[in-house]
Amino acid sequence: MIVSNELCYICGKISDFSIVDNATLLREAICKYCNASFRNSDTARIVMKTSIGKELPLSQGIDFLIESKITILEAQASGPIPNLLKHLPTYTCFEYWDELESGDNKNGVMNNNFEQLSFEDNSFDIVISQDVLEHIENPNNALAEINRVLKLNGTHVFTIPLHEASKTKSRKNARPVFHGDPLKEGGILVHTDWGTDILDIINIFGMRTHHINLHTFYDSTEITEVDNSYNDYLASPSLHYYRYNSIVFHSKKIKNCDLPKK
Ligand SMILES: [Zn+2]
Repeated sequence: MIVSNELCYICGKISDFSIVDNATLLREAICKYCNASFRNSDTARIVMKTSIGKELPLSQGIDFLIESKITILEAQASGPIPNLLKHLPTYTCFEYWDELESGDNKNGVMNNNFEQLSFEDNSFDIVISQDVLEHIENPNNALAEINRVLKLNGTHVFTIPLHEASKTKSRKNARPVFHGDPLKEGGILVHTDWGTDILDIINIFGMRTHHINLHTFYDSTEITEVDNSYNDYLASPSLHYYRYNSIVFHSKKIKNCDLPKK
């Protein structure tokens, strides 16, 4: 099913974005040329706007990124953005294997724990995380760490599955829900269902955050809680049961975070 035809901010082509029939997420529809999802393309668009001030496709903006000497840290080491940027000297990426220490390497990929990053204070102009914050056991630690490793006025550009009609909830006592993960068989556990209060939560950590809705597939009232939407899906499997819009968050460090870690 073709969801739309539009500019892909990864490869720079006007492309059909399509999903397979039993896909669980509309925002994971992919570009027919480069396989980037709406989420990847939307993230790249905001990274470019933030770094060089122009909404250029990433593939066309690499020389500007090199010239600008913008330093970027990304919390994933594969996928369309890392694949384009990982040869740049100003770009660093990592994955997380809980049996390794932060800063270790596995098969040439750096390991890092978002709750305890191995980088110096004030190291990066941009931190990118795509659908990572919902998987962090203690997200407050990660938010403090992101503030710490960003330079002043640096920006965390990120995506999460946002529940636009409910408040943030820990899933500590809820049914385990997993998201697909190329590195982990069986997927990765969701610790937090992020909701409408996310901007206030993040801003406590010395940030000023806003969000940009780049693809709106649903009204906020249709974005039900995970457990409810999964039940709806079981009753009608043609539903894309993780009903999220494609939203990119732009979170700027305006001061150092002085909160103690928990
Ligand atoms: Zn593309």
